Amino acid sequence: MHDVLTVSGLYKTYASGHDALKNINLSIRRGEIFALLGPNGAGKTTLISIVCGIVNPSQGSVRVDGHDIVRDYRAARALIGLVPQELTTDAFESVWGSVSFSRGLFGRPPDPAHIEKVLKALSLWEKKDSKIITLSGGMKRRLLIAKALSHEPQILFLDEPTAGVDVNLRRDMWQLVRALRDTGVTIILTTHYIDEAEEMADRIGIIRKGEIILVEDKAELMRKLGRKQLTLQLQ
Ligand code: ATP
Repeated sequence: MHDVLTVSGLYKTYASGHDALKNINLSIRRGEIFALLGPNGAGKTTLISIVCGIVNPSQGSVRVDGHDIVRDYRAARALIGLVPQELTTDAFESVWGSVSFSRGLFGRPPDPAHIEKVLKALSLWEKKDSKIITLSGGMKRRLLIAKALSHEPQILFLDEPTAGVDVNLRRDMWQLVRALRDTGVTIILTTHYIDEAEEMADRIGIIRKGEIILVEDKAELMRKLGRKQLTLQLQ
C-alpha cells in the first residue's frame, strides 16, 4: 500500500536553541490509525505543527501524498485536517457557521450536503444552529473534528484528543475515531496514554526527547515490550 505521508530527516531547533526534533523519519500508510506515543515535552506537537506547515523545520522534508509541505503548501495542506487540543473560536458563532468557515479557508466552494454529512456523523446535526458557547465539552471536542473534516481531507491529525476528558467521553472519542477511519480517512493521533494507543492504533511510534525510538505494529510492540516496559519508555 502506498504511503500517504513521508517525513524524512526532520530536525527542529527552536530559536531558543532547544533541539525539539532530531532526525525524524516516518512513513504513514493510507487508511491506518497511527499513534505517536510520548511523554510531555517529547516533541509531538512540534512534529504535527511541522507536518501541517505551521512551524518551519530546521532541516528535512515532509511529503503529503507526494506534495512537499513547504514548496507545495496549498496542495499538501488541503489533504490534512488538524484537530488541535483546544477550540479557539467565536463563542457566539453557530456550529454550522463555524464549520462552513473552516471549509472556506481552504478555498473549497460551499457544499451544504457535505457539512450536513459531517455534522450528522459527529452527532452535531441537532445543534447546527446553536451558538458554540452553549455546547458541552464533548460537543466542543466533536466540533473541532467537524471543522477539521470540513474540507474533505485524506489525513486527520488529532493532537492529544482525550487530554483532560472524562472516561465516558474518552470511550466516545475512541469509537468516533475508529468510525472515521472506516470511512477511509487516515488517522494520526498523539497521546501520552498507553491505553489510548493500545485501544486505537494499528501501529505505534514512540517519541522521546525529540527522537522516534521505535515504530511497530501494535500487537508486535505489546508482545515485545508489554505494558511495564512501555511505561518505562514513557518516563
Ligand atoms: P506535550 O505532551 O506536553 O504537549 P509534546 O510532546 O507535544 O508535549 P512539544 O510541545 O512539541 O512536546 O515540545 C517539545 C519541546 O520543545 C519541549 O521541550 C518544549 O518546551 C519545546 N518547545 C515547544 N514549542 C516551543 C517554542 N515555540 N519555542 C521554544 N521551545 C519550544
